[in-house]
Amino acid sequence: MSTITLLGTGTCQIEVERRASSVLLDLEGMYVLFDCGHGVVQRLLEAGVRHNQLEHIVLSHFHPDHVSDIISFLQAGAWSQRDPRTTDIHIYGPTGVQKIIDGLLQVFGPGSLQQPSYKIVVHEITQQQFEIGSHRFDFVSLPPAGNHGLGFTWNGKRYAVTGDSHFHDDEIAFLRDVDLAIIDSGHIEDREIVQLAVSSQAKTIVCSHLYREIDAKQLQAQAAGAGYRGTILVGRDLMSFVI
Ligand SMILES: [Zn+2]
Repeated sequence: MSTITLLGTGTCQIEVERRASSVLLDLEGMYVLFDCGHGVVQRLLEAGVRHNQLEHIVLSHFHPDHVSDIISFLQAGAWSQRDPRTTDIHIYGPTGVQKIIDGLLQVFGPGSLQQPSYKIVVHEITQQQFEIGSHRFDFVSLPPAGNHGLGFTWNGKRYAVTGDSHFHDDEIAFLRDVDLAIIDSGHIEDREIVQLAVSSQAKTIVCSHLYREIDAKQLQAQAAGAGYRGTILVGRDLMSFVI
């Protein structure tokens, strides 16, 4: 079975119910984490996955709310007595990800975050697509702030996660006709969420990266009135979809 689980649906804002935005893919037992901000490593365990089972982390961009728990994650791999890391960890991201990881290793000292028995392998993604194992992913530039969305096909269906994104034509194109879209709704207004739904016709849209409460029913009604045929949901931490 394969699933998409929202580990965090929040932002830099510190809240009881939401961690920073992060999405966990379980593709028949291969775990891929998209973004790793504050509180996400804890959520990973709450979702039933030990940190040392995870071998692939993809970063959308380098804002702290998408990156900061990499520190906790690497330290847990190196030093936790329960479930120490035994396998390489692969970290993927836009140009600059090598500098970020090297910087962390330098600041904390490599011995704090790594053991010689496994490697931290950094992959700078410079193309629009990359592969993890035999799986192909789209890595699409979505302004602003050097952000990238992650897209993939699974069992014939299309999935898209935006990371941080303002409303613009690139985002509409990225979400067009996908089966499930997890979007940054914190940086856009209600009317833009509606417009995104209507223009993209993404079948299910999950609003994440939230700075505020939003009323999905109201958005749904507005979008349906404007010709949207899909479903708008509000994301909650640990919400999971079988794919
Ligand atoms: Zn963000």
